[in-house]
Amino acid sequence: MIDTHCHLNMPPLGDDPAGVLACAAEAGVTSVVVPAYDLASWEPVLALAGAHGGAHPALGRHPWVAFEEKSGEPHTCGSSSIKDHLARAIMQAPVPVVAIGEIGLDTKVGPEGPTLRQQQAVLEAQLALAADLELPVILHCRGAYEELLEALGRHGGKLQGVFHAYSRGIELAERVVAAGLHLGLGGAVTRPQARIHRILPRLPLDRIVLETDAPSIGLDGVPPEQTEPRHVRAIAEVIAAARGESLETIAEATTHNARALFNLPE
Ligand SMILES: [Zn+2]
Repeated sequence: MIDTHCHLNMPPLGDDPAGVLACAAEAGVTSVVVPAYDLASWEPVLALAGAHGGAHPALGRHPWVAFEEKSGEPHTCGSSSIKDHLARAIMQAPVPVVAIGEIGLDTKVGPEGPTLRQQQAVLEAQLALAADLELPVILHCRGAYEELLEALGRHGGKLQGVFHAYSRGIELAERVVAAGLHLGLGGAVTRPQARIHRILPRLPLDRIVLETDAPSIGLDGVPPEQTEPRHVRAIAEVIAAARGESLETIAEATTHNARALFNLPE
């Protein structure tokens, strides 16, 4: 199985990535996509992926840091400089970068955070680069689904990617799928009362990928800081039970989906 969203560079996972990956492999989770989220995380994520075969890097600028400028570079109001800078980082990366992410929109950042307009400029630059490089995107979204779908729609269905940590209802799920994107299912599905748990039987299996978002999101009974990629197995088990399918069916389909989406090796 594949954990399509894990911050393996962050503590406590980053203290012993080899151990975390070994435990994951024992549970049948053999690959992990590691999205960077700000400038400072690009290098560590690339280094991690270079040192561990099962880790695959994604590079991007998260909406929370949409106002971040490259140090030493003159202020250019964002978008074109971000596109060039990210393009250079991807081209020069010592290992293949499998996606642009995590990127997106978040209206719940509070008054200190970047405005939606700032976030949209940074998002647009990164979506344009993803289209140019034919890379999938890893999308974070809170409170701005309409704006995000609109931004994706401007690329005319050309962009592939995943709505990560999807926890909303069936109507939005259907629109995400219709837009050609995948749904990233994680710890939220393990909470029996969660809306996402109730719609699991209705989601198209060819558009689901698994993720933990470790160490940011917990499972039912597992606090976020204890979550590891090995917990993808528990997430797959819950999905299998809810759909009346076998673990093998869920594991096979989601692994196939993730490999195809991120162009991962066998
Ligand atoms: Zn994340």
